[in-house]
Amino acid sequence: TKWVYTFGDGAAEGRAGDRNLLGGKGANLAEMCSLGLPVPPGFTITTEACNWYYANGQAYPASLQADVAKALEHIGALTGRNFGDPEKLLLVSVRSGARASMPGMMDTVLNLGLNDVTVEALAADSGDARFAYDSYRRFIQMYSDVVMGLDHEVFEEILEEEKARLGHDLDTDLTAAEWQHVISLYKARIEEELGKPFPQEPGEQLWGAIGAVFSSWMNHRAITYRRLHDIPESWGTAVNVQAMVFGNMGDSSATGVAFTRNPSTGENLLYGEFLVNAQGEDVVAGIRTPQNITEQARIAAGSDKPSLQKLMPEAFATFMEISERLEKHYRDMQDLEFTIERGKLWMLQTRSGKRTAKAALKIAVDMVADGLISTDEAVTRIDPTSLDQLLHPTIDPKAERNVIAMGLPASPGAATGELVFSSNEAEEARAIGKKVILVRIETSPEDIHGMHASEGILTARGGMTSHAAVVARGMGKPCVSGAGTLRIDYKAGTLSTLGTTLRKGDIVTIDGSTGQVLKGAVAMLQPELSGDFAAIMEWADNIRRMKVRTNAETPADARMARTFGAEGIGLCRTEHMFFEGTRVVAMREMILSDTEKGRRAALAKLLPMQRSDFLELFEIMAGLPVTIRLLDPPLHEFLPKTDEEIEEVAGVMEVSVDKLRQRTEELHEFNPMLGHRGCRLAITYPEIAEMQARAIFEAAVEAGKKTGSPVVPEIMVPLVGLKREFDFVKARIDAVAKAVADETGVAVEYLTGTMIELPRAALRADHIAETAEFFSFGTNDLTQTTFGISRDDAASFLEIYRQKGIIEQDPFVSIDLEGTGELMRIGAEKGRATRPEIKLGICGEHGGDPASIRFCEEVGLDYVSCSPFRVPIARLAAAQAAV
Ligand code: PEP
Ligand code: MG
Repeated sequence: TKWVYTFGDGAAEGRAGDRNLLGGKGANLAEMCSLGLPVPPGFTITTEACNWYYANGQAYPASLQADVAKALEHIGALTGRNFGDPEKLLLVSVRSGARASMPGMMDTVLNLGLNDVTVEALAADSGDARFAYDSYRRFIQMYSDVVMGLDHEVFEEILEEEKARLGHDLDTDLTAAEWQHVISLYKARIEEELGKPFPQEPGEQLWGAIGAVFSSWMNHRAITYRRLHDIPESWGTAVNVQAMVFGNMGDSSATGVAFTRNPSTGENLLYGEFLVNAQGEDVVAGIRTPQNITEQARIAAGSDKPSLQKLMPEAFATFMEISERLEKHYRDMQDLEFTIERGKLWMLQTRSGKRTAKAALKIAVDMVADGLISTDEAVTRIDPTSLDQLLHPTIDPKAERNVIAMGLPASPGAATGELVFSSNEAEEARAIGKKVILVRIETSPEDIHGMHASEGILTARGGMTSHAAVVARGMGKPCVSGAGTLRIDYKAGTLSTLGTTLRKGDIVTIDGSTGQVLKGAVAMLQPELSGDFAAIMEWADNIRRMKVRTNAETPADARMARTFGAEGIGLCRTEHMFFEGTRVVAMREMILSDTEKGRRAALAKLLPMQRSDFLELFEIMAGLPVTIRLLDPPLHEFLPKTDEEIEEVAGVMEVSVDKLRQRTEELHEFNPMLGHRGCRLAITYPEIAEMQARAIFEAAVEAGKKTGSPVVPEIMVPLVGLKREFDFVKARIDAVAKAVADETGVAVEYLTGTMIELPRAALRADHIAETAEFFSFGTNDLTQTTFGISRDDAASFLEIYRQKGIIEQDPFVSIDLEGTGELMRIGAEKGRATRPEIKLGICGEHGGDPASIRFCEEVGLDYVSCSPFRVPIARLAAAQAAV
């Protein structure tokens, strides 16, 4: 096996395509070398060596030692130097590099090879003793931290004490002799802490660093990061060893990082920063303020520190040329690292740069315009879920802002709601239709349900990568984190900040794009879905085969979904039309009546409401398909709970409170999700289905007259397991259709179909398709019943399942392909076997999940249906699935 790949001086054994073997960094270093770009010569130890290391009790393959020695000689030959040789000193850097960039792993050790002897050589070589000792102390600090596990604070403490003693403000104030003294203090401290001296032998140093890179693959942070980003452990990391180049060799040296385009706006202008006389870690550490690379950026930033363009025009020109070349070569925006050593530019890294959704769209569209990529490629480059960042309202710039606190802009968009201080409160408020902002000191995984139930999240502690920030971005919810002036009193239910005190229920607005917290409601602007967004969406629409519909029952949601490009309604949950106001009373009246007469009286009140609802939806959808599902109320969601609610319904029904309470208790179910819901209700009380069918047909007749074009409603029967259940309900629908046609003289064309959301329905789909004209997979219930896991109770243990590696993905979020997916496949095949032209769709939550959408394409569904905000995500994901 070949464990080591060399590169340098215009040639390389690897290339960009070897990312799996060489890691991202190693593959791109090789590629840059082959392009003839100035890259310090070096070599990459493969990810396979890392896997071998773990498979063999953390030992190295037999030939690795010799291979590394040979590769070091290769570097030596190209540089005219020798590793460990004080006469011709060669120092190296050691860096990790997995397939995907992974924060949390050992990053870098610079200046490796320095010791008490070679430091003198470096001083003589460079003619700069201060530089040499500064490099040596940096090496000791870094190596002790990442290889020997000694916290860097130990060294900072020593350095701070020395600076105070010497009266220096800056590190750069220390002289060579002073650094020498610091180094002796460092070394003494290491022996004291670790009981062994700092290793002097360069070979030992190198193998220590290689071992540290491999070990860091299994450290806690790396494991956590992999879990959060679905990176398999089997990938392993590579190790990159390169000849050192120095950005800290005086004022003609520098080091910096740059993006070939602006990563937050996508603007086609190089965007980057550098420091003169510094090494890489200084830029990241933020001790000194970096300078702009281009004059244009410097002027825009209003900075008085000179740009690289001004300071080192030659190196700058070379760098600009290289960055353009790399972007053209990779055909993507690049994230670059470079060092300038005494005027000569060296490239240390290139990779595809991370970017915001807005920037991703602009860059993709611009690159199509420049002929760099095709429209298909542009479509595949956008992460569908990231579009969510663009779909949220923003605060009207003209609105008055009463800012009461400032935090970090942790997740974009603005939201207004009532303050709540716990996740349970958030959920309860949401259940009764309130919009809330969840305020916590900080959030934890126990808050997921509360975050879901909120419009936005506000925390007093935590940064851009805090739990609240990460989860909120994932959910596409606005979030302001780390608003440090907030004083939150959970017990009292108050929040105070800078002289203002607010209580639970008070209205606040958060602006997740700026970090502002505002008192009261503020005017919002709806998102602008034109420009780059529209261009990408149009290309996506041309590629995709599946249609995208929405799950909507309110006119507002339906309208919103249409602006997002929905091509119809895939699920109108009629029970959701009865949650609010007086409707819920009539609904309760119907459920609680123990006679058909009583139910019909209540239904008579509901009919006109239903009819006008449907009419409005038909009008909004203007001829697009609309699937209306018959009532599917898990009873526990509708039964009155409080005494007040019971009294209210008793008053309307003119029965005693006691009688009604007794009836409520009779209707109590142990397992409402598996109880008297779905078509079961239509079978025990057919008058309900009849009322709904009538409302649908009458609304269709009226909408047809109003709009001049016929409406073809799709009527869907929920929770069918037996063909006879479906047939029973269909017969009622057909009878009502006929009656309405006779009464109005207009025969409405319509389809009658069913949800496939029980395993039995999927298994018997060929029979059901004899009478059902379409299927829609209800993957929420299908997941619940395939797993036998209650969808309402799963959150409490599924996260633990994930942590313990029992499941990789929450099956209620992304379709479990092997189980639930297999049932879908069976259902689709059997349905088509009976009725080849049967229309197939999905309307469970999974209809907006990109991985599930890919599967739906594979199964050949005709459409996916999802909540309005996920419609653009689904359009893009459906296109990517079809490419
Ligand atoms: C489903 O079960 O997937 C579905 C869409 O119906 P509901 O969520 O209303 O049960
Ligand atoms: Mg269902």
